[in-house]
Amino acid sequence: MRSAEIIAVGSELLTPEKTDTNSLWLTEKLGEIGISVMLKTIVGDDEPRLKEAIQDALKRSDVVITTGGLGPTEDDITRQVTAKALGRELVHRPELEEELRERFRRFGREMPEINVRQAYVIEGAEPLANPNGSAPGLFVEDAGRTLVVLPGPPRELKPMFETHVRPRLERLGDGMIVRRRVLMVAGLGESAVDEKIAPIYQKYENVRTALLFTKTEVQVHFYARAEDVESAEEVLNELVERSVAELGDAVFSTDGEAMEEVVGRMLRERNETLALAESCTGGLIGRRVTEVAGSSDYFLEGAITYSNAAKTRVLGVPAETIEAHGAVSAETAEAMAAGMRERSGADHAVSVTGIAGPGGGTEEKPVGTVFIGIANAGGVRSVRIVLPGDRYIIRWRASQAALDVLRRSLLRADRASGGRDYSLT
Ligand code: ATP
Ligand code: MG
Repeated sequence: MRSAEIIAVGSELLTPEKTDTNSLWLTEKLGEIGISVMLKTIVGDDEPRLKEAIQDALKRSDVVITTGGLGPTEDDITRQVTAKALGRELVHRPELEEELRERFRRFGREMPEINVRQAYVIEGAEPLANPNGSAPGLFVEDAGRTLVVLPGPPRELKPMFETHVRPRLERLGDGMIVRRRVLMVAGLGESAVDEKIAPIYQKYENVRTALLFTKTEVQVHFYARAEDVESAEEVLNELVERSVAELGDAVFSTDGEAMEEVVGRMLRERNETLALAESCTGGLIGRRVTEVAGSSDYFLEGAITYSNAAKTRVLGVPAETIEAHGAVSAETAEAMAAGMRERSGADHAVSVTGIAGPGGGTEEKPVGTVFIGIANAGGVRSVRIVLPGDRYIIRWRASQAALDVLRRSLLRADRASGGRDYSLT
């Protein structure tokens, strides 16, 4: 696998004011084409240090990408310093200058003379067009290494990478390409997942597998190397099919979709609606559901009923139920879901009540105890789970579990009704 490193340029990236997110984005994108980022550096606007960083990087890594510092001002030094690091001249390109002037004219302005520097290109480098800004990027090959110079603003960097850099990097190297597929798994731990699928993926020599435990799910990343896209896809399809056969319904997507997207798609396909009654998740489930564009097609409403009084007043949970069983109980979760379903008229109402901690746990109901209720045409049910982690993690996992309860209930309803031909992707 080819190695890459990233150099983020800009003094502000060293301060708490601005975080380097470009390198994270680039690492993911490079991974998709089989280039592995092994190191990243953040360098302030300092000529000697930047020059040294570029030269060191070119000694170690097949691909070096810099971001930032391509602007027209004095503190934007990446272009000059990169040229020095390579020992090459900067060459004026009249056609680039003309494009820049034209760009300014389109916005009804004269080009300030300082922008002329952006029309200088490192000898032997290819300039990369920047439709979202004035600074062109640069693609340079040097002694078997590849150096890519990209602008700092993410809205300029991302399209430039996708349009100009990704295809060039894919062509370089050993001619092999890499395709990635991500299995998303809910309700099973990392080691349980690995135990089930390791015997499968270990047989594939040209596939690299990585398991990732995020705050909401276990992700299985398969990277298949092959001579062409079709062969890679074929291997991935086979591997995914075998893994899903082993993991069953725990797999909620074979294409990296988030749980809220999967559930949203299922509701839309069925033309059914959802309402939420949240306690310990404090609106997190509603936020996730509504982050999906078009969710107004199936999401009706949500309530954050944090106090006992609100559970009674808003959802009609009988005070006696809370009194007898506690606010965190199967009975309360079911009454919350039933109350929300009745009030909203939704096909499905999902409720969550639990103890996110750090305080409030008891021996019988330790921190992390969460009840999820679901009410639909089939009746009202609830599940009890105990989640590990701190308050933040417990709330996220509770939101995931609630959406997963809904997803599994939709799958079951299909099977009971004679089997809709559902697909997990
Ligand atoms: P410009 O022509 O806008 O000056 P530039 O290529 O010189 O572009 P910088 O001046 O380094 O880029 O950064 C411009 C802005 O881009 C920064 O203020 C910051 O908001 C964003 N930016 C720069 N580098 C990064 C990074 N590594 N991650 C995320 N955002 C970044
Ligand atoms: Mg700048």
